[in-house]
Amino acid sequence: MIDFNKCTDKAYEILLEQKGEIPVDVASLLLNEPIIFDTLQNYAKLTHTTMEHLTINHKIENGYIIKQQNFYIILNNDEHTEQRCNFTRGHELGHIVLNHTTDSSDAEVEANFFSAQLLMPNPLVKYLAFKSYKQHMDVSHILLREFFGVSDLAARKKIRTLNKYYSEHRWDCDLIIKYKESLDFRFESLISLYHPSSL
Ligand SMILES: [Zn+2]
Repeated sequence: MIDFNKCTDKAYEILLEQKGEIPVDVASLLLNEPIIFDTLQNYAKLTHTTMEHLTINHKIENGYIIKQQNFYIILNNDEHTEQRCNFTRGHELGHIVLNHTTDSSDAEVEANFFSAQLLMPNPLVKYLAFKSYKQHMDVSHILLREFFGVSDLAARKKIRTLNKYYSEHRWDCDLIIKYKESLDFRFESLISLYHPSSL
């Protein structure tokens, strides 16, 4: 059964252990699990295999996890945009920290939800909405995309999910306190780069 609360708890727990910088770069996170991040292309080169073999003729070409005896390797496709690769890394990290053992569709939904909460945590989106409101702006998917460094698709999905199920979390304030400086700085830089109406 899909457990959205578990995904949120785990994403927030990881975020609270970081320095507090937005956008979140998954490959640079401080993690309890030993994880190496690499690309499918580099892994194929290092292991003298082909991309066709590694991706089972391009069936699995987003990314995946290789479990070694005491560490994991998360691979993603460097032909995809950096935003998409970052989300994929978050998705694969979700499978590890949520202790998924199967490739079920529920596990896929949880990994996606985890990645979205890791890159665009609800309280930080809410804080962004508050700051935008003061500038007479709405939180559009474009603002979300630019602010959190995610793809257009991920930003649109986040807005849709938030409109359907928003609930407060016991760590909302802790997250805002931790990320406030970075959020404020990023907001000011974005505002000076873009005219508010274009966001
Ligand atoms: Zn997956």
